[in-house]
Amino acid sequence: MKYNFLLKTKVIFGTRCMAENKSELKKFGNRALIVTGKTSGKQSGALDDTIEVLKDQGIGYAVFDKVLNNPTLENVFDGGQMAAETKADFIIGIGGGSPLDASKAVAAIAVNNIKPLDLFNNVLPNKPLPIVAIPTTAGTGSEVTAVSIITRHDLQTKMSFGNEDTFPVLAFLDARYTESMPYEVTVNTAVDALSHAVEGYLSNVSTPVSDVFAVESIRLFGDCLSALLENRIDYATREKLLHMSMLGGMTVAQTGTTIVHGMGYSLTYFKDIPHGKANGLFMREYLKFNYDVVKEKTENILRLLKLKDIDEFGRVMDKLLVNDKQFNEEEFKLYASLAMKQKSAKKNAKSVTDADLVEIMKRSLLQ
Ligand code: NAP
Ligand code: ZN
Repeated sequence: MKYNFLLKTKVIFGTRCMAENKSELKKFGNRALIVTGKTSGKQSGALDDTIEVLKDQGIGYAVFDKVLNNPTLENVFDGGQMAAETKADFIIGIGGGSPLDASKAVAAIAVNNIKPLDLFNNVLPNKPLPIVAIPTTAGTGSEVTAVSIITRHDLQTKMSFGNEDTFPVLAFLDARYTESMPYEVTVNTAVDALSHAVEGYLSNVSTPVSDVFAVESIRLFGDCLSALLENRIDYATREKLLHMSMLGGMTVAQTGTTIVHGMGYSLTYFKDIPHGKANGLFMREYLKFNYDVVKEKTENILRLLKLKDIDEFGRVMDKLLVNDKQFNEEEFKLYASLAMKQKSAKKNAKSVTDADLVEIMKRSLLQ
């Protein structure tokens, strides 16, 4: 047996966990920059709670609330500049994956005088500022990964950067902050978390440790499935979803993602389909494509989800996610070539070609 394992985030989970552990923040300095989106921090109540705790602890703060969904390089550089100008000692990311990913980039840019594209070299002369992550969606698990996914207009796709120093140092997971998510965002983000656990589990770089996180994350998604399908999402379900998404994040922190995410990026970039939904639309055909090389693990996923076979899995996904966009084969060829350029394509259980990806996309989106 051979594996590496690294997870650098202190996780504090529970209702009102930030207020109950407020002295934790003081460890990172006297000035914070809060990085959030237009609505997530405010609607969830997390922004007000954070400000209250910062004031209580005598920590100064400024707020950058301009993070775009699927943040661009230009967008995170604006945040980085503000962090430098306000002399922030640390960054607090509040929101879904977009603000949390942006906060990692902001933390890096604040202390490194680099050209925008150099961010993706993952060589940062100065260690990024400490990052505290407060998720308001239950999906990306970004609070426990080092990865930051940024939209690259020059490449017409999204690309990740991150190294051991971009793990958040601390994450407060309070399910109250996910209660204001609209139903559709709840479903899309839960499916994203499932895709992390499943892709990590079936990846050819999965490890005995990442599998433990993945299996429990998939099992918890199965537990929440009827509540998601029937839109009966109570607080206990919200907690389970937040916990499962963190476990999905812990999985991909070890394995990364594979072709589902690689193809999903194009649906987001070209068709504005939300990240989790974009992944979910491919999952049935992804499972079928890989079945012969990861048969036992796939059967275990179905058992954990209490589903009979991949077709039943597909029917459940069809109930959760409806594709309302038009596609053609020419578009799929472009998306396939972009997905093949992602490092993650090589981690897929079965080796893939452009033609395989085009076929998966046709079966997923045209039939
Ligand atoms: P998101 O883009 O962060 O948020 C989606 C929408 O939901 C936004 O409009 C957001 O508002 C709103 N929202 C978030 N929380 C809310 C709440 N509690 N109440 C009301 N509205 C709320 O979506 P996401 O799916 O969480 O993140 C997707 C991003 O994460 C993508 O860029 C993806 O590539 C990345 N990602 C990263 C990782 C990783 O490991 N780092 C893994 C997977 C995905 P705002 O306008 O305020 O933001
Ligand atoms: Zn994802």
